[in-house]
Amino acid sequence: MSVKVSPLIRLTDSVQYVKGIGPVRAEALQEVGVSTVEDLLYYFPRRYLDRRSVSPIRDLRIGEQATVLGRVTGKGMKYARRRKFFQVTIGDDGGTLNCVWFRGFEWIQDRFQVGDRVAVHGKVEFYKQMQMVHPDFDLMDQDEDPLHTGKIVPLYPGTAGLKATGLDSRRFRRVIRDLWERLAPIPDLFTDAFRHQQSLPALEESLQQIHAPDDDSSYGQAAHRLKFDEHFFLQLLMAVRRRSLDALPGRKFPELGPLVRQIYRSLPYRLTNAQVRVMREIRGDFQAGRMMNRLLQGDVGSGKTVLALLAAAIVVGKQAQVAVMAPTEILAGQHYRAFTALCANVDLSLALLTGSTPKEERQTILQKLRDGELSLVIGTHALIQKDVAFKDLALMIVDEQHRFGVVQRGQLMEKGVYPHVLAMTATPIPRTLAITYHGDMDISVLDELPGNRAGVITTVIQPDQLDETYQLMRREVELGHQCFLVYPVITESEKGDLKAASAGYAHLKKKVFPDIGMGFLHGRMKGPDKEQVMTAFLARETHILIATTVIEVGIDVPNATVMVVENAERFGLTQLHQLRGRIGRGSLKGRCVLIQRGGGDESAQRLAILERTSDGFEIADQDLKLRGHGELFGARQHGYEKMRMADLANDGPIIRVARQAAFALIRHDPNLDQREHRPLKQVLIDKYRQQLDFVTIS
Ligand code: ADP
Ligand code: MG
Repeated sequence: MSVKVSPLIRLTDSVQYVKGIGPVRAEALQEVGVSTVEDLLYYFPRRYLDRRSVSPIRDLRIGEQATVLGRVTGKGMKYARRRKFFQVTIGDDGGTLNCVWFRGFEWIQDRFQVGDRVAVHGKVEFYKQMQMVHPDFDLMDQDEDPLHTGKIVPLYPGTAGLKATGLDSRRFRRVIRDLWERLAPIPDLFTDAFRHQQSLPALEESLQQIHAPDDDSSYGQAAHRLKFDEHFFLQLLMAVRRRSLDALPGRKFPELGPLVRQIYRSLPYRLTNAQVRVMREIRGDFQAGRMMNRLLQGDVGSGKTVLALLAAAIVVGKQAQVAVMAPTEILAGQHYRAFTALCANVDLSLALLTGSTPKEERQTILQKLRDGELSLVIGTHALIQKDVAFKDLALMIVDEQHRFGVVQRGQLMEKGVYPHVLAMTATPIPRTLAITYHGDMDISVLDELPGNRAGVITTVIQPDQLDETYQLMRREVELGHQCFLVYPVITESEKGDLKAASAGYAHLKKKVFPDIGMGFLHGRMKGPDKEQVMTAFLARETHILIATTVIEVGIDVPNATVMVVENAERFGLTQLHQLRGRIGRGSLKGRCVLIQRGGGDESAQRLAILERTSDGFEIADQDLKLRGHGELFGARQHGYEKMRMADLANDGPIIRVARQAAFALIRHDPNLDQREHRPLKQVLIDKYRQQLDFVTIS
């Protein structure tokens, strides 16, 4: 290390003051989320080039990446094939190599002098003789510490904005190297004892190594440390939340009560073993005297609704109130109908509250909720409006909970005094994800479908097989069954997608199925219009329902047997799995047809997974491996996209260790008050404040 001069740079300083950056580049860096020195250090290379070994020119092979060390034997502008270029010839003991530039002449001409010792790196090509086009290079005489030669060198993720300011990988390497010279020592977040116990290298060293690894093993250790940090803080967050939740008093509902028994007796089926087991877990929470915070995971059709009702009935039986929140009006309406049907012979007052509930009716419902006259309300976001108040909200059930943000759930919770929370999701979540995203919750899994399911056969087809699909639909309709056809409108604001769906609908109606009643459902329709289309389909007035992904979750139409998905390659596997879960639910065998219109072999292979298996967990695992966690489970809304090093698909072992360490730490020092834990607490407060929501840490 050289002697440190002038004031040291600190992690919190603006990146603008880093040597080689300045205001213009600082602005470009904003776009990639880098504003402080710390951000810059956490802007990790996207990959590395191994330039540790130098090849003699005579051993070069065409097509290979290579590093060559030699002296400049000639340079000058040349013409060939009507193009002007600048050429530098380099020689070593055994041969010569041409280096060629097609632009930036002025700058490049001045770099090289005949006789200079240089190293060049690039792909070996052949044009009249061995050459490299636009090689990266080091001038060995001028640069006492060649940045780009004799080592593993990093390549940084570039953007147009960065490139425009000349901030390429070459420049990045220099900036980072110079930065270390002036950077104040980086304090470690962990104690030496902890690092030793977990075999973690120091943070400063890890950051240095990640930008300029000495070798594979130091890279590996650095990456491990940086991954560990990311997982550790998430788990620490989970541990803190968990502790706060456990400290909250939870109302006890120890008995089942007569209401539950009545509902239970009138069920048209027997609960599956899995349903019975989960019911027992829920009852355990009601008896424990602490707040329930449970996530119920169950594949589509596994029968979550009836469990929600039974849980609700336990609470309602004690004159307390229950709110059930669903992400869409359609789903809320369906829950309402399902609950009503299951409670046909039972004295239980329930209401549906959505954005399209008429004003007067809404007022009445609100009044009854305030008075406690109404025990059970099912609804959408309408439930979290300011003027909705409960007399005694003791349980909230959130369906498809990943579609809600932490904030929305929090808003509903605030309407009660520590209400129990039962969240439900049909998205099977691989274990590593579950403990990362829901590590503060208890998890119940419904891993068994009711035995009366006929199942679904899935086929992936190309557009030229469409006729067969239409024939299949027609046949099923003639048998009295119903069909779904889904178009990808990934975000309902995409005008182009919606147009394609409307055009598809118009075409089918006019040309293919003019004699068959069809409905069209999309997310931009008004509540009552949607309801009308859905009702017509449920009443079998229409036989084919063309829809966008609004029908993705939860819709239950036992008479539907066919699910056709257009442009299936644009969907995630989990999403497709949920779509086909809409059919084959009763005694009728379902047929799912996935139309692939692009994406090539890669998509074909991906979609083939659905032909092969119907195991939601396996599909979720594959989806995670293929698409990364960012795409899944609303990672964005949780703010987890900030993870830089972590890779949920492969970090299972690290996640488990980090979780253990984090939970042990919080058991030991619940409020992180011990002196050596202050830095951890500070990071938690600085970086994870939003996700701490109702948690008390001060
Ligand atoms: P999901 O878990 O996807 O929300 P639902 O609760 O909508 O599933 O249940 C799907 C269908 O299965 C419903 O029609 C429901 O009546 C039925 N069902 C639920 N439990 C059972 C069971 N134990 N046996 C038979 N059918 C069941
Ligand atoms: Mg459901």
